[in-house]
Amino acid sequence: MTDSIATDTQDVLTRLGIDRALYTGGTLASFSPVTGEQIATLPEHDGPAVTAAIDRAAAAFRIWRNVPAPRRGELVRVLGEELRAAKDDLGRLVSIEAGKSPSEGAGEVQEMIDICDFAVGLSRQLYGLTIATERPGHRMMETWHPLGVVGVISAFNFPVAVWSWNAALALVCGNPVVWKPSEKTPLTALACQAILDRALTRFGDAPDALSQVIIGGPGTGGALVDDPRVALVSATGSTRMGRQVGPRVAARFGRSILELGGNNAGIVCPSADLDMALRAIAFGAMGTAGQRCTTMRRLFVHDSVYDQLVPGLIKAYGSVTVGNPLTTQALVGPLIDRQAFEGMRDALHAAKAAGGTVHGGSRVPDAAPDTAYYVQPALVEMPCQTGPVLTETFAPILYVMRYGDFDDVIDQHNAVGAGLSSSIFTTDLRESEIFLSAAGSDCGIANVNIGTSGAEIGGAFGGEKETGGGRESGSDAWKAYMRRATNTINYSRDLPLAQGVVFDI
Ligand code: NAD
Repeated sequence: MTDSIATDTQDVLTRLGIDRALYTGGTLASFSPVTGEQIATLPEHDGPAVTAAIDRAAAAFRIWRNVPAPRRGELVRVLGEELRAAKDDLGRLVSIEAGKSPSEGAGEVQEMIDICDFAVGLSRQLYGLTIATERPGHRMMETWHPLGVVGVISAFNFPVAVWSWNAALALVCGNPVVWKPSEKTPLTALACQAILDRALTRFGDAPDALSQVIIGGPGTGGALVDDPRVALVSATGSTRMGRQVGPRVAARFGRSILELGGNNAGIVCPSADLDMALRAIAFGAMGTAGQRCTTMRRLFVHDSVYDQLVPGLIKAYGSVTVGNPLTTQALVGPLIDRQAFEGMRDALHAAKAAGGTVHGGSRVPDAAPDTAYYVQPALVEMPCQTGPVLTETFAPILYVMRYGDFDDVIDQHNAVGAGLSSSIFTTDLRESEIFLSAAGSDCGIANVNIGTSGAEIGGAFGGEKETGGGRESGSDAWKAYMRRATNTINYSRDLPLAQGVVFDI
């Protein structure tokens, strides 16, 4: 096993065209959660190196902002082609470094391809409005201009897609990108940079340093956060990280997109299609070993269907396959590391202490050596929403609670800090519409008869409250990567002042 994963990693890195010097002989050790073994040691960027990267990005901005947007889109179109060509290898590297199943690794790369397609079209649609003016002989309009250097900080669990959501939009909007990936998944970042470098070579006349990767932990990210030349910091990770990063960017009046933790819930109503609900909940709660920001973590089931649904769910939890994503067809892979395992164990203890009945949740001993952390997903029947149910534990734990009253369950649904994703299972039009209304779910994503995870790139992605309020990806999320100017043009021979003000001199 040890030989094969190290060899596998080396082969994939070579095929992806990554310079060996970037992942050998450095101070940042990278591990595969599949076996827990070390697969690379990367040189890190210190403060001066980050400053130098921002210097280069700032110089690139002065050139790139003047390139017509559809031409900028051409770069992203070529990037999409290069990603298609590298899909298998990059997906494999995601499986090696983040522990995702092959289907989820490939699916993440597909998301990158999809956002490239979206951004290419967008490069011809960076529209501003023309607005009625109160003054005769005048015209008023909005224009959207490139913003500046975009700093991207990303989490381990979507090691490549989050970069692409940001980079594809930032590039067509006229901005260079400096990316600080998670210190737990630096190799996939090097791979993305190598793929983009190939696209840049084919593109031909882009400025140097349009996209750069800086390697390191929170300190390296901090240098990006505090530099006033970084116009936008797009930071994806825990709410704890957002509490540190958000105020620092705000203190220098920088712009931020914060994509933070979720504590996502589903509600199963009396009229729900229970077979559909069961499959959606099982995928939403156990997929990616519960390590998606949109993972379903809380489930409210109406009293009248609880005994029909929950025993079937418990059965699914007991029978789901857990194992090595590189060598087996298991649906659930490893937790990222020991810390994640301990977090899960502590949350389950707390749930028991609060009166919960735990099904599953134990370590799967035979799935891997002692250095990797595979767990049977846990379903916990809770008497009420309390203790660990109120916060995100980044592991496969689903807390299940009964409800009787619809208004009350909506209140409970919203009574947590995070506000990312939510879903309701019902065939009752009134319940569905209330859930989606102003008085319903308070999350950035609210779904009907679909689980909480698995968003498409066409919609704006993000959440409210402690999830940070940012939006990425589709819809009009591009506006966060540009600055808006309101322009008024006087083509008359007079100077009428707004609001009828007279100022004759
Ligand atoms: P994390 O917060 O530990 O780290 C995320 C990134 O932030 C890393 O690159 C890390 O180095 C950096 N970082 C941490 N503190 C920093 C600081 N003070 N200054 C600058 N950079 C700092 O998160 P993680 O464990 O990698 O990822 C899991 C978390 O991310 C979960 O809470 C999950 O819900 C969240 N997440 C959210 C979304 C979303 O779109 N809302 C998507 C993926 C993951």
